[in-house]
Amino acid sequence: MKDFSDGIVVGVNEAAYQAALRDCPNGFVLSLNRGRKGGRTLHTTKCRSVNYDLEEKQSPVPQTHRSGKIVFSNRDELVAYLDTKSDLSLGDLNRCSFCSPR
Ligand SMILES: [Zn+2]
Repeated sequence: MKDFSDGIVVGVNEAAYQAALRDCPNGFVLSLNRGRKGGRTLHTTKCRSVNYDLEEKQSPVPQTHRSGKIVFSNRDELVAYLDTKSDLSLGDLNRCSFCSPR
């Protein structure tokens, strides 16, 4: 598990985040910002909404940071993390509609 819950910033920890995604090709990313329905969203590490070149994406202006995220190498790691959170369970998470994590 790699904890980026304080956010990800180019020049600070974006490189470490990209390395974590590469190291966990079958892993998951939990996005900690709350979605439209108030929940947090689960992605696969390959999802295009969490895995892209931050500086090259110009929408609408170059981006320099991502919201807080946690990268898990597998489902067991994700479940173990959620077990430590009394306010968060697997069933509460939104599943990203692009990557449909299972
Ligand atoms: Zn996704």
